[in-house]
Amino acid sequence: MQVEQKEKLYEGKGKKLYKTNDENFVLAEFKDDLTAFNAQKKGNEEGKGALNCKISSEIFKLLEKRGIKTHYVETLADNLMLCQFVEIIPIEVVVRNIATGSLTKRLGIKEGERLPFALVEFYYKDDSLGDPLINDEHALILGCVKSIEILEHLRKIGRDVNEVLCEFFDRRNLMLVDFKLEFGLNQKNEILVADEITPDSCRFWDKNSKEKLDKDRFREDLGGVKMAYEEVLKRILLG
Ligand code: UDP
Repeated sequence: MQVEQKEKLYEGKGKKLYKTNDENFVLAEFKDDLTAFNAQKKGNEEGKGALNCKISSEIFKLLEKRGIKTHYVETLADNLMLCQFVEIIPIEVVVRNIATGSLTKRLGIKEGERLPFALVEFYYKDDSLGDPLINDEHALILGCVKSIEILEHLRKIGRDVNEVLCEFFDRRNLMLVDFKLEFGLNQKNEILVADEITPDSCRFWDKNSKEKLDKDRFREDLGGVKMAYEEVLKRILLG
């Protein structure tokens, strides 16, 4: 699809969004910047943007193939993705298979423990509040969505994405520990998986060594961030 890049619409921590000549589409430029702990920790890894663009493109294509609607249209260059324009729902949907990160801190569940079922959590997307954990009633009171049914729908898509990705990564010797999804509404009012699905927003552990192959390498100063992202892409492309 031919589009012209127009003015910048928004700049986030991991991407810049540009308008195009068609109001239904935006261009997402993946950045090399890394941030953690609500942007208190900052870094940069050359080539990370291109790796994330490729990884996210492959995952969105996989989800589309499995009947899960996403905002993905086409990858136009190394770090440039054409997406449907969506109005982002201000909820981060986190799906967890294995306890780590904030879950272990909040509830004292042992690090590395497999949860009895995939846990879906909602966080309110608001940097000034530090993205707090919310329940369904909070989401309604905050006006994040219009009805409880939409929240149920987000939970269902979260679980569907988890099933597809767990199976996909298991065959590639990677454990999908947890991940974050964002959703948006397009012009037709359809709910689409939006933003990105990358090692910035997911946790991947090697099934045998339990080595971390995601942004935790940056969060915890483990080094080898780019190598880890390259490894995830290599395994995705195994076919
Ligand atoms: N996550 C994310 N963006 C956020 C918060 C979390 O992409 O603003 C992802 C994170 O990479 C992990 C999952 O969501 O895969 C769960 O993160 P957690 O709540 O454990 O937060 P953290 O330990 O990163 O503070």
